Amino acid sequence: MQCPNGCPSSMEERKEEKIFHRNGEPIVISDLVMYVCPNCGQESMPLPSARIVENILNGKAKSTGKFTAELYEVSSV
Ligand SMILES: [Zn+2]
Repeated sequence: MQCPNGCPSSMEERKEEKIFHRNGEPIVISDLVMYVCPNCGQESMPLPSARIVENILNGKAKSTGKFTAELYEVSSV
């Protein structure tokens, strides 16, 4: 898959942790396959990943646990 920004190298498949919001609540999806451009960092979500996200946001998937993390806001650094 080529980068939409026209970079010469093709995008790499990477598993990432992504935060989404469902009913105003943050949820984390880990090991979500994303395409990332090694040149400019542009990310693109492949269709199977988009389906997974859709299912989770629609409440069709079971959560496997809670994710807690420290929050840092840019304005406080
Ligand atoms: Zn690129």
